[in-house]
Amino acid sequence: MTMTAIGERITELRKELPEGVELVAVSKFHPSEAIMEAYEVGQRRFGESRVQELLAKQQTLPADIEWHFIGHLQTNKVRQIMGRTSLIESVDTEKLLEYIDKESERAGVVTRVLMQLHVAREETKFGFYPEELLEYFRSRKFEHLKATHICGVMGMASNTDDEERVREDFRKIAEVYQTIREDSSLGLTGFDTLSMGMSGDWPLAVSEGSNLIRVGTRIFGARQY
Ligand SMILES: *Cc1c(COP(=O)(O)O)cnc(C)c1O
Repeated sequence: MTMTAIGERITELRKELPEGVELVAVSKFHPSEAIMEAYEVGQRRFGESRVQELLAKQQTLPADIEWHFIGHLQTNKVRQIMGRTSLIESVDTEKLLEYIDKESERAGVVTRVLMQLHVAREETKFGFYPEELLEYFRSRKFEHLKATHICGVMGMASNTDDEERVREDFRKIAEVYQTIREDSSLGLTGFDTLSMGMSGDWPLAVSEGSNLIRVGTRIFGARQY
């Protein structure tokens, strides 16, 4: 079998990943054909940021693909993706979490999620501030969730060439994750996923403890918006 450029890039990338670090191939804005090229070299985990796009691709692609939702999720779209994701990485408000829980229960599924942290200077306005997320756990509100499993934390670093700044951001995200994870009084189970690192900064993220990276451009090339 001859490998395509996408196949080659993904194979190379996976060789560079340390044991225990998983890869989400971020396929947003790329066609199903590109996803199949990655699928053919064994990639099964893909990331999408828009509900309609995820649903459309899911209809035509193999059923054993695990779909990660990584974009800002509007509450009015939640119902449409219940049972269709293996992980929603971008829960950015308590309100969204409550919606997901309500709709999961209604659909008879358990939805796995990550809580999105906001530490980067400017890029995105989405996510919990570190103190806010810590307070959410301290308040034990998560105990009321009926059909949602919080599996960890997702975050992005500032979009800058300043490596020290990027490292600081990842360190902050990892610290919040560890604080929650190590608080045995919370009684969390399966809180074990730290998603950070993209095409330009994933090696730094991994060196700061990430065990799930989300890489698009480096695999699929530039996106046409
Ligand atoms: C688009 C996106 C990525 C992938 O970014 P690349 O720089 O193309 O690797 C990762 N994470 C999130 C949340 C994204 O929206």
